[in-house]
Amino acid sequence: MSEQTTTHEFQAETRRLLDIVINSLYTERDIFLRELISNSSDALEKMRHESLTHDDVFDDHVPLEISIDLDEEKHTLTITDTGIGMTCEELETNLGTIAHSGSGAFVEELAEAARKDINLIGQFGVGFYAAFMVGEKVTVQSRSWDGSEGNEWVSEGSGSFTISESPGLRRGTKIIIELKDDAHDYDKKWKVEGIIKQYSTFVPFPIKLEGETVNTVQAIWTRAKNEITDEEYNDFYKFVANAIDEPQYRLHFSVDAPLAINAVLFVPTENFESMGFGRVEPGVNLYCQRVLIDQHSENILPEWLRFLKGVVDSEDLPLNISRQALQDNALVMKLRRVITKRFLKFLAEEAGKDSDRYLKLWNTFGIYLKEGVTSDYEFQKELAKLVRFESSASEDGKPISLTEYVERMDEGQEEIYYISGPNRKAIESGPYVEMFNKKGIEIIYTMEPIDDFVLNHLGEFDGKKLVSADRADLDLSKSGDDKEADADETGRLSSEDSDSLVSWLKKTLGEKVADVIESKRLVDSPAMIVNPDGMMTSSMERIMAASRMEKGLSPEASKKNLEINLASPLIKQLAELVKSDEAFASDVAEQIYDNAMIQAGLVVDPMLMVKRNYKILNKVVGV
Ligand code: ADP
Repeated sequence: MSEQTTTHEFQAETRRLLDIVINSLYTERDIFLRELISNSSDALEKMRHESLTHDDVFDDHVPLEISIDLDEEKHTLTITDTGIGMTCEELETNLGTIAHSGSGAFVEELAEAARKDINLIGQFGVGFYAAFMVGEKVTVQSRSWDGSEGNEWVSEGSGSFTISESPGLRRGTKIIIELKDDAHDYDKKWKVEGIIKQYSTFVPFPIKLEGETVNTVQAIWTRAKNEITDEEYNDFYKFVANAIDEPQYRLHFSVDAPLAINAVLFVPTENFESMGFGRVEPGVNLYCQRVLIDQHSENILPEWLRFLKGVVDSEDLPLNISRQALQDNALVMKLRRVITKRFLKFLAEEAGKDSDRYLKLWNTFGIYLKEGVTSDYEFQKELAKLVRFESSASEDGKPISLTEYVERMDEGQEEIYYISGPNRKAIESGPYVEMFNKKGIEIIYTMEPIDDFVLNHLGEFDGKKLVSADRADLDLSKSGDDKEADADETGRLSSEDSDSLVSWLKKTLGEKVADVIESKRLVDSPAMIVNPDGMMTSSMERIMAASRMEKGLSPEASKKNLEINLASPLIKQLAELVKSDEAFASDVAEQIYDNAMIQAGLVVDPMLMVKRNYKILNKVVGV
């Protein structure tokens, strides 16, 4: 060891990662080359960007490219790039730690994936350390574009690495891998060429294998659509998304006005966020004239479109724009608006062409579009056409669009109705749909916790207000094919009896209710809970109560109205009971209230309720 050589320990997480890479990842070994080429490509992209904005670049004249050289006798694979290179400090931190934010969690997830399904490894991108899948010793020689002297990093992948000065290097990075005994395939040209063709066709710099360029360097998004095959698009998707699935949809579009844009956007098949892999990072790269400006850009699309993969290239962006400046750059914001609208229009068109295919997208990524409705006012109109819900007129599991609902509406109907519940069966056996069924009015079923927030944010669709069926002021008298089918008038309590029952109920239920009112829309059920606050639905209230309780606060429900059905035998009999046995009648009234709360999905005190329930049962069986 020379005097200038220093020894460094790998950070604990890196050691763990190396351990997984070396000991568990045998089957997907080929990906090591993809990882190293992709690092080189990143370093070259950065170099291209820097050389546009600086004129003091060291070795500025060398062409931007990647070379791979093999030695079948020494069993080595060497990959060289003329990218930005690394200084001594950069070698130490970049190749000694894991740059990932939350690297501990990242390594845990990787270990889990390695146990479960080796195919998932490809999604992680273990990066540089993948070299140790095939190498028993790895040497990295690098010289930064700032011109400082070069250095050499050496490790055998165990606990430590060394760094020493290495004078006379060219700008860029050279990685020499001494292959393990069982990895000698990787010094064969046919093998390495096959891997490059499979994974790295779209790398935007020449890749020279033993001096021969093996990829065609043309940005796919600048080519004419009719000249690109499905296979090329799919391969490009796999390349930009680092994915193994095929895209569900792709949109390739080019416009000149109001801005010059070339974009290729893909919708993946799998939603990794829903599979428990943490929040998906944005997957669209921003280019200007084929120079990468912002990889995995957070600025070019709204956050809720983070599931998209692809590229956006706009000549109108200034090439030397910094990543910070992208954030509130007016041009970038305009780009984002144009691209987002274009993409949403594309989805609406696709949904019109083949609704079953669109439903697949809705089932995997609908949650993001819902997030868009609740978080982003700007695109609500477009998003409203894309949301899907089940309804009383839809088949089980086949949600419909709001457009379809509106098309089916009767002339007299002016509002779009919805009601939430845990599932179809529960909603259909609850009190809220009774009058809708009787009058033949379609009603939307919202079955996900976020749904009521989505419809509440939309407010209206096509000029028709969106109204929850648990609203106190709901009026169906003008709607439906049987306009007179209001609650049955025959056999109702006389108005005198009903007035006194209503005021007795108000007194008995006291603080629990805001009001007790005679229902105009119950058919069979004796009672139901409705919301006097038009902005709030029972489902929203339930979620807010749960989140308050999670924080250790009381649920603090707002007061509801109890609607009673004066034609219901139970309610009629209750009026009699008040006169003969008021104490018992009070228990029955409380129980009716609790039952209605439960049907609304709201919280009651279970202990109190069960105790009261037994009291009533005892009375019934004559204890
Ligand atoms: P990632 O690429 O995901 O950041 P890696 O472990 O592959 O993680 O690499 C860590 C860092 O090392 C990179 O972010 C980059 O800064 C640096 N690096 C790796 N390879 C090269 C290279 N060929 N040229 C310049 N820098 C590199």
